[in-house]
Amino acid sequence: MIVSPWVGDGMAAARLVVPNGFPDAFSNSVIMTAAFLGAPRFDGDAAPELNYATFGSVFAHEFVHVAETHEFGADGSVQELWSAADIKAEEAAGQCVVAQANAWEPLPGVKMKGERQYGENVADYGGLRLAFEALEKRLGTDALYRVDASGTSPAQRFFYKYAQYRCTAQTDEDLRKTVESDSHAPTVFRVNAPLSNLPGFARAFSCQPGAKMARPPEQQCRVW
Ligand SMILES: [Zn+2]
Repeated sequence: MIVSPWVGDGMAAARLVVPNGFPDAFSNSVIMTAAFLGAPRFDGDAAPELNYATFGSVFAHEFVHVAETHEFGADGSVQELWSAADIKAEEAAGQCVVAQANAWEPLPGVKMKGERQYGENVADYGGLRLAFEALEKRLGTDALYRVDASGTSPAQRFFYKYAQYRCTAQTDEDLRKTVESDSHAPTVFRVNAPLSNLPGFARAFSCQPGAKMARPPEQQCRVW
């Protein structure tokens, strides 16, 4: 396994015990560590919507990273895969993601860095959408939104699990640090921003127009 950046001996081994996924642009592949394949992140006996919300959304997040890295061919050689029009279209659609992050103020006076966190945010938005669409394909639209004996629908359980998976207790000081130096957004944004852009979320919970977690269609970002 190629590990880049290489930050020290044992890095490759460490990554096997850390539950995470990584994009590997040089081999056009996604690496999911063995440690990820355990409950509660992945459970072969669990209902599909739960695994799609965790393993599925992280895998799709890494997949978007690979797709966004368009400078390598299938054999790893340097090659531009996108046309000039593709690049322009991606940039234009991406402005929406940048603007939503910049407009969010997690604490008074603390501003997000939409440009700097774009790569991770666009992977979060796209990863959620792709995982949810894959689940819809697996279950069928009717079954996805149908409330069953448990009182919830598979779609609702997918979103609960997605939010629970990212649930974080964070001090203001740590949140400030995340905004300043992390390439990822604070977890509250990583949940609420992608969900509020996804029509399936509003449908699953019957959000009324104007609901805070359901952006109107013309304000929804869609890159992937
Ligand atoms: Zn990422």
